[in-house]
Amino acid sequence: MTSNKVEYQKILSQIQNEFSDTPLSGKVASYIPELAKVPSNKFGMHLYDLDGESHCFGDSNERFSIQSISKVFTLSLAMKMVGDKLWNRVGVEPSGDPFNSLSQLENDSGIPRNPFINAGALVIADVLVSAFSNPKAALLAFLHEITDDSSIDFDETVAASEQAEGYRNYAMVNYLKSFGNIENDVEEVLDFYFHQCALSMSCKELSQAFIIFANHGKILGSDREFLTGQQVKRINALMQTCGFYDEAGEFSFEVGLPGKSGVGGGIVAINPYYYAVSVWSPPLNPKGNSALGMAALERLTTLTGFSIF
Ligand code: GLU
Repeated sequence: MTSNKVEYQKILSQIQNEFSDTPLSGKVASYIPELAKVPSNKFGMHLYDLDGESHCFGDSNERFSIQSISKVFTLSLAMKMVGDKLWNRVGVEPSGDPFNSLSQLENDSGIPRNPFINAGALVIADVLVSAFSNPKAALLAFLHEITDDSSIDFDETVAASEQAEGYRNYAMVNYLKSFGNIENDVEEVLDFYFHQCALSMSCKELSQAFIIFANHGKILGSDREFLTGQQVKRINALMQTCGFYDEAGEFSFEVGLPGKSGVGGGIVAINPYYYAVSVWSPPLNPKGNSALGMAALERLTTLTGFSIF
């Protein structure tokens, strides 16, 4: 099967219709006060295929807070900067615990289970704070290059909102530092972390950015390799096993694609060598994943008839 034989737009329109009358289930995240202000009925989806064609519906062009989806971008940059040394400081196993759990760190002596739980992402943030004199500018530059869109930016209001209430992340980074797994000043690491989570991007921009994970580390139409084939293989494996909080098994079972979600209600998934797809619906299920987003992606792999399995 080649991607241009699949009628993606028809399938996306069907998904939009199927869910148009479904009552919303789940709750919009409120522990970051700014996120609670987002209307719960936003719903958009964008699929970018390897022929360079875009397929979409709904609020797919509206920017939202990507939150933990940013952890895939920071992991990518950290792998480029320090290579395999990274794995001395963070593991590659699913955690099976909530994303903001502190208790696992005690047993694991300050080595977070994987880069997508908060503890792991804070270690990755520390790596980037060490690697760049201006890590926020480096992250934006990476995103601008892979999307060819220099207007992508942090939402300072969301970053400040999380910083004001980010007690758990403050606790986490201090705890990590007590184990010697944070090199820099904790305020500097948290400032970078709160900003990466406050990146504002649309489904369309996320699909464009994630195409590198479906296309051997390259953007479409270019030979420039942003990530090596081996790095892409590893990042996709981590998305598959750890990308959905402690619901990664359920996501594999229902959808069958590597991906990453965030508490802003976004989910990005890739079908290697076929497409990158993003969906946004703010209400979250009890595990923290967009309830409607997950259901829409389940329909996508069912209606197209293929996932990675
Ligand atoms: N900024 C959020 C936090 O650290 C990210 C959570 C998420 O999207 O998983 O709590």
